[in-house]
Amino acid sequence: MAGRDEIELIRERADMLEIVSRYVTLKKAGKNYLGSCPFHQDKTPSFTVNPDKKLFHCFGCNEGGDLFQFLMKIERIDFAEVLARLAAQVGVPIRRERASPLSKFKELNERICGYFQINLVSPAGQKARDYLKQRGFTKEIVEKFRLGYALPKWDDLIKTFPKDGETLETLGLALRGKEGTRYDRFRERLIFPIWSSTGDIIGFAGRALGDEEPKYLNISNTPLFEKGSVLYGLNFARQAARDTGTLIVVEGYTDVISAHQAGIENIVAGMG
Ligand code: ZN
Repeated sequence: MAGRDEIELIRERADMLEIVSRYVTLKKAGKNYLGSCPFHQDKTPSFTVNPDKKLFHCFGCNEGGDLFQFLMKIERIDFAEVLARLAAQVGVPIRRERASPLSKFKELNERICGYFQINLVSPAGQKARDYLKQRGFTKEIVEKFRLGYALPKWDDLIKTFPKDGETLETLGLALRGKEGTRYDRFRERLIFPIWSSTGDIIGFAGRALGDEEPKYLNISNTPLFEKGSVLYGLNFARQAARDTGTLIVVEGYTDVISAHQAGIENIVAGMG
């Protein structure tokens, strides 16, 4: 289990506003930020976040607490799980007596997702950014869905994670050529991280930016990811699906993202 110093460091580094904004649309109101509470049927926005103190509070249902409590409640996960995820996201290594292989895989996927996201905003990501712009996606929605970009190279991912070659293969992100050398599965593609219903990154899909086939490329099945059993966007749709009692299933990832941008959140895509 992580020690107190590590917990404090994670608390300090985590951007509460950015993380809460993945679930709640927040608007600045004085020192605080205000939005519709995700924990009760909120008619007037009563959910506030104080980014300096890193606390949230709802005047409607009285829910409140820090970032850890927010994530425990909204994701329905325990403290250890919140800690593991935040640690991976903010880059604080935590000591764990028995980190399971699956949680190691998830942590690596987090870091890889960050790598793809950085590629997208780098000069090399222009073509992918042009595509997103042409689709009308805002910067906010691109960040919420953590879209990324795989460079037009055969080994950039492998070289960026030199110690993880074998795991990259296990996670479906590296393949082996005839001579046994590894190469990146995704090249010159827009990257969509795929989440579990509880918000862990369990895989990736890549969309071609030109005429290459296939247009959408998924990773193969891995210990984290089984194609037929995953609904893209379910992690973001759970709350709205509960509130409305319906879940809309569409075909494409971009349809899910477009719908969210239009304020429709009880929507997922099947992964054929
Ligand atoms: Zn509330």
